[in-house]
Amino acid sequence: MLRAALLGAANNESMARFVMAHGRRFGAYRFVAGETFEQFMRAVAATNAAGMRVAAGLLGEDVSTVADARAVAAQYCGMLERFAAQRADANVALKLTHLGLLIDSDLARENVAKVIAAAGRHGNFVRMDMEQSACVQPTLDIYRALRADGLDNIGIVLQSYLYRSRSDFDALLHLRPSIRIVKGAYLEPASVAYPRKRDVDRNYVALMEASLSSGGFTAIATHDEAIVQHAIEFIQRNDIAADRFEFQMLYGVRPRLQQWLVARGFGVRIAVPFGAQWYPYFMRRLAERPANLMFFLSSMWRA
Ligand SMILES: Cc1cc2nc3c(=O)[nH]c(=O)nc-3n(C[C@H](O)[C@H](O)[C@H](O)COP(=O)(O)OP(=O)(O)OC[C@H]3O[C@@H](n4cnc5c(N)ncnc54)[C@H](O)[C@@H]3O)c2cc1C
Repeated sequence: MLRAALLGAANNESMARFVMAHGRRFGAYRFVAGETFEQFMRAVAATNAAGMRVAAGLLGEDVSTVADARAVAAQYCGMLERFAAQRADANVALKLTHLGLLIDSDLARENVAKVIAAAGRHGNFVRMDMEQSACVQPTLDIYRALRADGLDNIGIVLQSYLYRSRSDFDALLHLRPSIRIVKGAYLEPASVAYPRKRDVDRNYVALMEASLSSGGFTAIATHDEAIVQHAIEFIQRNDIAADRFEFQMLYGVRPRLQQWLVARGFGVRIAVPFGAQWYPYFMRRLAERPANLMFFLSSMWRA
């Protein structure tokens, strides 16, 4: 109920204005590395210094003009140049709606291809995040088209809450894809997604094991300690090479678990988001955990 209310509130404009005006007080900056590029680059340096890689995300989704979508692609290209210049251990993860998917899928494809080309010039990599269920098929179609064009420095995400993800995985297998597996962050109806957490978790483990057993690369993106432990046992039992997987977590979430993995020699990448458009991202993080929500509600009460 509360999760649905919070995710629903992400579309409420007056709520958005109020929360954004008091972002720091509401705890948004625990999950967001700042609003400016320079603040973000400091977070990248600190993350690298702590032994972790970065997946950079410029916050924002669902742009409404072609010019805005192209400007976002240009910002990602600039970011990749800066990573190369500063030798940052960072790639990018972007949302196709931010690159114009809801305006025209050819525009999104053209924009993501520019970012992939910029990444390719520096031996770097681009991952396309997975958004709400209506975007899954167009995102997979663009992924396949880019791979058919010979672009290999690109990865995809599958969400274990969706019934379709297992068959999507099977259909991608021949491409030896780089897949990030997540549980899924959007509010989806029972017609497309498992309503019960235990089914989402079970499907996560099944997808993760299938991906680790395949020839591709697996990004195990979760803060779920039981799943992380299960992954480690599976990796050790099956002798999976270190360059075939990494753990991924979100900036500001379970920092001790992140460090615990680094201390044991595992590759860890942190998704570090930044930018002024942090509101929907922040609401999804609140919705994931009752304790975050309680902190937020008590801050609102005091505001
Ligand atoms: C690197 C990365 C990339 C992602 N990319 C996508 C994507 O492209 N598309 C998409 O739909 N989703 C994405 N997600 C979000 C994901 O779908 C989940 O919503 C999110 O990771 C929470 O699920 P969990 O696997 O951590 O498990 P959960 O069962 O939700 O959480 C397990 C435990 O982790 C801790 N935890 C989890 N979330 C939080 C939080 N916000 N604050 C504090 N503690 C928390 C709690 O201790 C909780 O008990 C991504 C997540 C990660 C880590």
